[in-house]
Amino acid sequence: AKDAGRDQVCFFDPAMQTEVLERAMLLRDLRQALDNDEFCLFYQPVVDGQQRILGVEALIRWQHPQLGMVSPATFIPLAEDCGLILSIGQWVLKTACLQLASWAQDPERADWHIAVNVSARQLNQDDFVDQVAAIIDSTGACAARLRMELTESMLQENLPRTISKMRILRQMGIRFSLDDFGTGYSSFSYLQRLPMDQLKIDKSFIDHVLTDANDAAIAGTIVALGRTLGLGVVAEGVETVEQMRFLVDSGCQVFQGYLFGRPVEAAALGRSRQVLAAS
Ligand code: C2E
Ligand code: CA
Ligand code: CA
Ligand code: CA
Repeated sequence: AKDAGRDQVCFFDPAMQTEVLERAMLLRDLRQALDNDEFCLFYQPVVDGQQRILGVEALIRWQHPQLGMVSPATFIPLAEDCGLILSIGQWVLKTACLQLASWAQDPERADWHIAVNVSARQLNQDDFVDQVAAIIDSTGACAARLRMELTESMLQENLPRTISKMRILRQMGIRFSLDDFGTGYSSFSYLQRLPMDQLKIDKSFIDHVLTDANDAAIAGTIVALGRTLGLGVVAEGVETVEQMRFLVDSGCQVFQGYLFGRPVEAAALGRSRQVLAAS
């Protein structure tokens, strides 16, 4: 019986087995991470054309006791699959709101906004609006300084209900950005129906904006679309002065990327840097 499997297809490809095991271990550890206080929020500056900081995007980090820093690109999808994203998402919102309440006391930072990334499962909870209201209330954060970044894909399901939640949250003062814009499906009429405030041009277009005519055209079109619809436009992933210049020439007025600052702990957020000589 022991030899029976010898000539058969090998089901347990060692590489695949390692991957499955790693995933299972990561998932086990992820369940403990909130209790063990292993998450923290990093903040990346969002700047205007004069490189003044307008606000930040909150980006979660997981300091794993053995593995070190685990990328959200790895663990957020895991957390979404197993439902942990609900408690992690609440923690993100609460931590960001506590940060806003603390910055409200600092004249240099009182008018900065914080944008948080919200997952589909979070937004689709029946009591999402109540959760957010409770967090705003308990932290004393100013709702008008809070932004939520949503992606197109998460807005496919039950759009009317999502729109009505967004309307209530907007009445509270919260603003919405459409993240990774251009990478998913959207139509003009669909965009018009959404109570959005801002479009974020995905980094994948900014990367090749100087060398790829298609990407350049897409970036320019998004800026024009934003203007037509009365929406702000942010370019994400700006790494070079040349990219920034191109975007400025295209009419873009708000920027985010390593050129202005990487995501860092709140305490390490500096004054804005001047990366372009004043003209
Ligand atoms: P995203 O929302 O598209 O965030 C932008 C990502 O681009 C961040 O990666 C940021 O660090 C990176 N980035 C910004 N500027 C530059 C640049 O100039 N060059 C390069 N190379 N990268 C740049 P990060 O922090 O690894 O986050 C990855 C993704 O994980 C995010 O993509 C977002 O989808 C998700 N994520 C992060 N934090 C949270 C969170 O608190 N909740 C949820 N649901 N998702 C989150
Ligand atoms: Ca984002
Ligand atoms: Ca992106
Ligand atoms: Ca994203």
